Amino acid sequence: MSVRTDFATVEVPNDSHVQKNENNMEREKKRLLHYLRQERKRGGDEEFGRRIKTIQKLSQFSHGQSNPTYKLLVEMTDGTLKSYVLRKKPGGKILSSAHAVEREFQVQLALKRKHPNFPVPRMILLCEDSSILGTPFYIMDFVQGTIYLQPKLPVITREERKTRIYENMAKTLGALHSFDIRELGLTSFGNISSGSYSRRTLKRWFGQYEKSITNKLVETPEKEVVMKLVAWLDANCPKDGEEVSDRIIHGDYRLDNLIYDERSDDVLAVLDWELSTVGCPHADVAYNCLPYYLPPGLEFYPSFGDSNQVPAGVPTEKQYCNIWSQHARLPNICGSSKWKFYVALSMFRGMAILAGVRARAVAGNASSRNARQAGSLVEVFAKRAYVVVVQGGASKVPRQEIKGGYEPSEKCMMLLERLRAFMSEHVYDAEEVFERHATTNERWSVHPLMEELKKKAKAKGLWNLWLPLDSAALIKITNARGNDEALYKGPGLTNLEYAHLAREMGKVPWASEIFNCSAPDTGNMEVLLRYGTKEQQERWLLPLLMGDIRSCFAMTEPAVASSDATNIESSIVKSTNGTQYVVNGRKWWTSGACDPRCAIAIFMGKTKTTGPQHEQQSMVLVPMLNNHKVKVVRPLLVFGYDDAPHGHAEVIFDHVVVDVKESLLAREGAGFAIAQGRLGPGRLHHCMRLVGMAERSLDVTYARVKSRVAFGKPLSENSNVLNVLGNCRVEVDGARLLTLYAAHVLDQLGIKDSRARSAVAACKISAPNVACSVIDRCIQLFGGEGVSQDSPLARLYAGARTLRIADGPDEVHLETVAKIDLRRSKL
Ligand SMILES: Cc1cc2nc3c(=O)[nH]c(=O)nc-3n(C[C@H](O)[C@H](O)[C@H](O)COP(=O)(O)OP(=O)(O)OC[C@H]3O[C@@H](n4cnc5c(N)ncnc54)[C@H](O)[C@@H]3O)c2cc1C
Repeated sequence: MSVRTDFATVEVPNDSHVQKNENNMEREKKRLLHYLRQERKRGGDEEFGRRIKTIQKLSQFSHGQSNPTYKLLVEMTDGTLKSYVLRKKPGGKILSSAHAVEREFQVQLALKRKHPNFPVPRMILLCEDSSILGTPFYIMDFVQGTIYLQPKLPVITREERKTRIYENMAKTLGALHSFDIRELGLTSFGNISSGSYSRRTLKRWFGQYEKSITNKLVETPEKEVVMKLVAWLDANCPKDGEEVSDRIIHGDYRLDNLIYDERSDDVLAVLDWELSTVGCPHADVAYNCLPYYLPPGLEFYPSFGDSNQVPAGVPTEKQYCNIWSQHARLPNICGSSKWKFYVALSMFRGMAILAGVRARAVAGNASSRNARQAGSLVEVFAKRAYVVVVQGGASKVPRQEIKGGYEPSEKCMMLLERLRAFMSEHVYDAEEVFERHATTNERWSVHPLMEELKKKAKAKGLWNLWLPLDSAALIKITNARGNDEALYKGPGLTNLEYAHLAREMGKVPWASEIFNCSAPDTGNMEVLLRYGTKEQQERWLLPLLMGDIRSCFAMTEPAVASSDATNIESSIVKSTNGTQYVVNGRKWWTSGACDPRCAIAIFMGKTKTTGPQHEQQSMVLVPMLNNHKVKVVRPLLVFGYDDAPHGHAEVIFDHVVVDVKESLLAREGAGFAIAQGRLGPGRLHHCMRLVGMAERSLDVTYARVKSRVAFGKPLSENSNVLNVLGNCRVEVDGARLLTLYAAHVLDQLGIKDSRARSAVAACKISAPNVACSVIDRCIQLFGGEGVSQDSPLARLYAGARTLRIADGPDEVHLETVAKIDLRRSKL
């Protein structure tokens, strides 16, 4: 394992770590030149020495802890300058069998000979004579490319590049593991005869660890946990024949041991073969996956820190192992108990290597000035392996094993990361643009940026995320125009999975529209899915799913208390020949009716005024574009906001004539039931977004209270401010969990089940109340700016406040919860 010294936070060309102080290498250069010019060298490029004129430079790469590595710049006899890499054993007393540069040379030579396309540098020569440079060394081609030091790939902005970089890393390792050691002529490369690879590894590295702590000057705070870890590994070690163990394994396969081509993202070279041997490929890929497990902030061993921080584009551990598995032609055991063993074993091995570095640092012969620091990681590795992986402390491994939790699934996690990246890259920055547009005379037109962002979201597969699989299955359309089916059917998430994404979108009031996830379209699409005929779906649902048109839902009326849908007075009267309806009514709060793209309204009215109260209402489709019988009277204001271009309109439907077959949804008298069904998932979507609104308010407030100083100290240092923020967190998390629970119950039972209805009603009460109260407290902490257009809080508050009324007022939902409980208590 090479432990890095001066990590950069960005990707670097692979020669940028060359130290510039090569003055003291003059003697070495002379000796080396003399040696190279001697007779032909065996084992690599036999003519190499003859073609050399002078050695221009020999300068050490500053990273590479284990085997000192140098860039060798040579002038050839034909006058050209060529770069090579020289790698040697470190000097001083080292543990037996460690730093075997001879083995590195041997394995790379064999790989290049048998598999010329496998990315290893060409081997030039091996010198086992320690009199030349003090220790054995070898020379290989210098491969120009880029080394990525950080698993998160922070300076790569394009997700597809991150994906490619990881895919190519997995493919390369898979290819290595697919090679036959007999063909390579490396059957004697590992000690295959003495038990399983894992048993050998455990024995070897425990032995190394024990040796490394013999020096009394070495402090060993990790010893107790190491002993427990060893006992566990011993008890869980695969027996002979239980593991694949006849492959060449790299032993230290990690991102920063690969050189990439920056244009194609191909792996050009795999470096640092010091720990290669014949062994178990599953152990090798488990080691490669350590960044998914290690804690954040390890300078020497950067990781993703936490599974939540795996950046968009980077595959999850399981996806990564799948790619590896296809190329290695070996089973993917990621997530199994065997996998847990290999991860723990990898960390144990890492710990033992670090303990060796610590011992050498104490003895004074480590090749890096930071070796002591590396030693301090011994305890971190040991504890992480035992406490996190073995005992199942807070980490990704146990989280995957917990059943019934509300953590995002892997599929959801990938989308969530992609969504977060999209929001950071495009949405937050555009807030100001849309805010400004909303104050101009042009505000009732759609800003071109919105359509641009929609296109980008489609291209990223962030489209129709709200559409659950069971609803997508109700799409009846014949896709005559050849629309992308994957796009209009969405990624097929559950309500629970979508909850995580909707929360993210809720952070910016108009963000959901970018991903075709905004109200009232989602609720209207749900209605068309469940109750629309094939023709209705083709005419209205498909363009809605593609984001080509928008829609509105016209139920509430100014004249009656509309929280009781049976009060609705608008009429839908059938013509005498029974083929047409005449629609009349004054509606208000018809959200979206002002939008120039609004092409269709779902209109609720009475087809009967007698009979059972809940069966008098029906729903019909009313085309909105260029319909002179539909008059948008005015946009209503919410605390002064008109929410242009969407708008909440007062609308008059004046003798609108529609065809019965084309317009009626389900059947006459089904309107009330449709309204109930429509609002199930739709209500939940609002709640999910409300949690995001509260989170966003807290985020901006955290930044504010840390930087705003009043009466001599930042606001965040006042105990009452901490009190407010603490209470906000408790409430937001409560609302979040209630929302996730409701989504889960809805997935499991469907909205017709009273438990699902109760859960949805409960979070429809909790989420807007919590959001309002949290945003209100954030506004208070912001001071004047909080109620102004300069912070997002005022608009967020206005939006959250309406949701204590829209989709049914709190009181109605409280009644639902209580009635269901009372009914249950009778049982
Ligand atoms: C921003 C916004 C967007 C909207 N979008 C749409 C839309 O797109 N389409 C649409 O059709 N409608 C929409 N609405 C309307 C919304 O659904 C209604 O306002 C809501 O259903 C309440 O109806 P109402 O306004 O007639 O209030 P009312 O029915 O008059 O009720 C007024 C108050 O009476 C109390 N109350 C009512 N019932 C009870 C009870 N059972 N027990 C105790 N107290 C009770 C509550 O405090 C309630 O707030 C929207 C509203 C807003 C504010």
